[in-house]
Amino acid sequence: MTGTAPRKIAILGATGSIGGSTLDVIARHPERFRATVLTAQRNVDALVALCVTHRPELAVIADAALENQLTQRLRAAGVQCEVASGHDALTAAAASPLCDTVVAAIVGAAGLDSTLAAARAGKRLLLANKESIVMAGQLLLQALNEGGGELIPVDSEHNAIFQCLPGGRPDADKGGLDANGVRRLILTASGGPFRGRSRAELAGVTPDQACKHPKWVMGRKISVDSATLMNKGLEVIEAHHLFGAPVDRIDVLVHPQSLVHSLVEYVDGSVLAQLGNPDMRTAIAHALAWPERVDAGVSMLDLATSGALAFEAPDLGTFRCLTLAYQALRAGGDAPALLNAANEVAVEAFLAGSLSFLSIADVVESVLTELPPAAVVDVQTLVERDRLAREAARRVLCSAC
Ligand code: NAD
Ligand code: MG
Repeated sequence: MTGTAPRKIAILGATGSIGGSTLDVIARHPERFRATVLTAQRNVDALVALCVTHRPELAVIADAALENQLTQRLRAAGVQCEVASGHDALTAAAASPLCDTVVAAIVGAAGLDSTLAAARAGKRLLLANKESIVMAGQLLLQALNEGGGELIPVDSEHNAIFQCLPGGRPDADKGGLDANGVRRLILTASGGPFRGRSRAELAGVTPDQACKHPKWVMGRKISVDSATLMNKGLEVIEAHHLFGAPVDRIDVLVHPQSLVHSLVEYVDGSVLAQLGNPDMRTAIAHALAWPERVDAGVSMLDLATSGALAFEAPDLGTFRCLTLAYQALRAGGDAPALLNAANEVAVEAFLAGSLSFLSIADVVESVLTELPPAAVVDVQTLVERDRLAREAARRVLCSAC
């Protein structure tokens, strides 16, 4: 890398779990990577602390009411960077010349506009924010095409598949998966904290129990999604878009040790897998440095001492959210966006203590029944449909309380 300027990296959602892991990898390689833009929703303390350490050129706080506070705190801390606030500033930051790479690590549909903006601007897009591709798969792929940038998946399963496919992403114009001899994509799932439990045993589980993931430390929304298996459902939809895979060629395999991050099955009977200790810094480092490799700070996998690797089929009767996600993908149109919106509302209610764990699937199912899918036309219509699905979900919540 001598003589090459460091990559300029915007981390959208810098104060989160993926944001923190990304900054950890960046700090290990100052000659290659520089964090130039850091953003947060409303945690001023955490954002200031990150700015003190990483000295970005721009800090954005999504909650505009906190801009003055952020400016004053940064000045007091001796940090010179530019400050901006609000949703539009976040979107502008993703497309700004201050960065050539954007790590989309905001949680939920709130990340859609900035993810699309990065794609349109031709950035290298490191996608963690799976909700945006679930909502707007085709539109995001179009934006990437128009922008001429590239998407490297950060979600560990998709990053694993990317690593197991020749050239990362099969070119649809050149025959897609078939031209590469790929038969099936197999996403592994840890099974979450409630693997093996019956529906009766899940009736009274609390948000803290649901967020206690056996293998990964993550934000609370994705932790609940992992516990319901909705996370795997969203990932099936994500894989469909990222790799151009038909729904019946994407399977899910529960693998509690979380050492095999996903697999690709080829027509000749070969199955390629990517393995590693469960630490998101591996996928992040791979995506940041691709096609090169850099140290991620992750301990090496020692298969001689890691114990047996187990695999089992998911329990679709108990974890209905996975089935609902498959159904939404089969239904087509904007059904995945409706599923995502309903799930976000339901998970928020569960985390707030106003909805039971098992009812998350009920809310999602009600919304999908109430709103038949429509074709995805453009972002504006999609955002409107997302709003309608949220309203429908809230009505279901109200009728249940
Ligand atoms: P998190 O809750 O730890 O962090 C979320 C970040 O987004 C924070 O910086 C927060 O300030 C910001 N944010 C939240 N709402 C916002 C809003 N309305 N506007 C602007 N910024 C907002 O979440 P996380 O676990 O880091 O997950 C981030 C994304 O990455 C999610 O889409 C998740 O599904 C995906 N992902 C996470 C992991 C993981 O290991 N944590 C793994 C794979 C994929
Ligand atoms: Mg994942």
